[in-house]
Amino acid sequence: MYKYFTNPVDIAKRIMTNYVKEGDIVLDCTVGNGNDTIHLAKLVGDSGKVYGFDIQSIALKLTREKLEKENLLNRVFFIHDSHENIDNYISEKLSLIVYNLGYLPGGDKSIKTNPITTIKSLKKAIKLLKSNGLLLITCYTGHSGGKEEKEKVKAYLSALDQKYANVLEFNFINQKNNPPVLYGVEKF
Ligand code: SAM
Repeated sequence: MYKYFTNPVDIAKRIMTNYVKEGDIVLDCTVGNGNDTIHLAKLVGDSGKVYGFDIQSIALKLTREKLEKENLLNRVFFIHDSHENIDNYISEKLSLIVYNLGYLPGGDKSIKTNPITTIKSLKKAIKLLKSNGLLLITCYTGHSGGKEEKEKVKAYLSALDQKYANVLEFNFINQKNNPPVLYGVEKF
């Protein structure tokens, strides 16, 4: 059983755990089943704030219910809109922004993130990050359009000036069956 090099979702979670502090303001651009939102809500504590975007009301409803059960709803602000519009709702500087691209597990697979809106959103997300803020993006390549989206994300991030941000790719290069890829960005 692997403990350290597990999978991108777990690696992203551990980066969040190490980085996010009480009182931080953070953003989950793809709430989905709420795993990242709930984790972030715990990390920012009572004095912090989590913004959460999803285009599917069912995702926001289920995540709201989970947060309510854990008494964490007071610090989470849901926005039922596409993440390409984050700048219409957020003007504060953010410590961390997370994307988990693709479709809602257990939901309608035809409703998924797409390269055009994802790149539009990423451009805005980087501007909203504070200095030394982190951006985490997990890309899935097994579904239709997933590979293309990952390539677009990679091309966009690869072109960021290294004086502006450092970009890492976490890629399981010996795994079969299209393993997900995690990108990590630290803004200067
Ligand atoms: N992070 C989630 C979790 O922990 O359960 C999983 C996210 S799931 C892979 C992707 C989510 O992105 C879906 O719920 C989908 O509705 C949402 N989504 C797709 N396009 C979107 C967009 N343009 N803006 C915001 N959310 C979007």
